[in-house]
Amino acid sequence: MTARHDVAVVGGGPAGAAFAVELARAGRDVVLVEREGGPHDKVCGEFLSGEALGYLAALGVDVGALGAVPVEIVRVSHGSVSAQRALPFRAASLSRRRLDEALLARAAGAGVAVLRGSAVRDLRQVLGGWSARLENGTELIAREAALATGKHDLRGRRRPPGRQNDLIGLKAHFRLRPSATAELARAVEIGLFEGGYAGLELVEDGIANLCLVVRAETFAGHGREWASLLAAVMAAAPRLGELLKGASPRHERPLAVARIPYGLVRPDAEDGLWRLGDQAAVIPSFAGEGMSIALHSARLAALTMLGGADSQTFQRRLAADVTRQVGLATLLSQALMLSVAQTAGAAVARVFPATLAAVAAATRIRPSAILLQAD
Ligand SMILES: Cc1cc2nc3c(=O)[nH]c(=O)nc-3n(C[C@H](O)[C@H](O)[C@H](O)COP(=O)(O)OP(=O)(O)OC[C@H]3O[C@@H](n4cnc5c(N)ncnc54)[C@H](O)[C@@H]3O)c2cc1C
Repeated sequence: MTARHDVAVVGGGPAGAAFAVELARAGRDVVLVEREGGPHDKVCGEFLSGEALGYLAALGVDVGALGAVPVEIVRVSHGSVSAQRALPFRAASLSRRRLDEALLARAAGAGVAVLRGSAVRDLRQVLGGWSARLENGTELIAREAALATGKHDLRGRRRPPGRQNDLIGLKAHFRLRPSATAELARAVEIGLFEGGYAGLELVEDGIANLCLVVRAETFAGHGREWASLLAAVMAAAPRLGELLKGASPRHERPLAVARIPYGLVRPDAEDGLWRLGDQAAVIPSFAGEGMSIALHSARLAALTMLGGADSQTFQRRLAADVTRQVGLATLLSQALMLSVAQTAGAAVARVFPATLAAVAAATRIRPSAILLQAD
């Protein structure tokens, strides 16, 4: 079976779904392929920065109605040292299971043909456009194609390494004790441990999301056992440990993602593909900016395509918008790993909230690059 469209979007995370919505609203015939057949969890801190909230609102996604909770304070702890600070921007948290479904529903509502439950296995250039072959045998032909597969690389289209490549991301949802739930309200609690850092925050329905990044060799030192790693995290950051004490896990095992190319920014698009979100740029997780970059890339790509310019123009402009923030966040991420490894974790915990607040402005997308006013 072969179907023809103006644009084929591979991947239905925030980047792919938002891009598809923008194009469909402008009258383009768009098909989007998402390999997951229904709501699914993702490795993510589930923290939405102000920029992400702005882009989501412009797409018509009401995160408050979906159950998002505000985040106003960041607390950091290591050993007996703990420090906190108010976030210098508005923020909220919402599970990716709920957010990504809402975005895909938005896309379908805007007229996008959303195909779910079958992955794109092959994407190649053909005369006059692109051919995407799905694992169920369907072939899609489109004049333009966007790659928005996030953390997953298509066969033959693996992203180059970033500048910090030795970290693994893990995530699990918990139901905390009522007193711990109350204590965590409106805060993100970060714990530093040797080989990584962990963040805990509430999402909708009183569920807490624990997301952490850990050096691959540290995880190997725990025999790649979640229980052993979690016990070490709770011991190194007792505040986090206290909040998690007696918590009931919502998953049997955590979700994991390896070989994250932190610091990667694609400088151009020599093959004509529109690379969105994590396929274009990967910012270290503590910045809480991955989704806002994904949504920014979607908006910028849509405006560029609708304006008649090519993917090369888009990719260069995106790189200009995000290179500085991704670079700075990657330097900080490297410094953070080094200082905790050198047992300066307590000192880092003391200055981290203030540093985070100070660098927050520098690791946001430049306000002049935010594209909401074009609506
Ligand atoms: C540990 C960790 C913590 C993070 N915490 C935060 C945070 O708190 N806040 C924040 O803003 N960002 C955070 N991020 C970053 C954020 O998760 C990503 O930047 C964001 O999800 C990128 O969106 P995307 O649409 O590019 O990709 P994704 O969200 O990964 O979506 C890609 C989609 O493509 C689909 N797909 C993959 N392959 C195929 C295929 N072959 N065919 C069809 N579909 C396919 C997948 O199923 C998926 O739905 C974190 C990342 C990590 C690793």
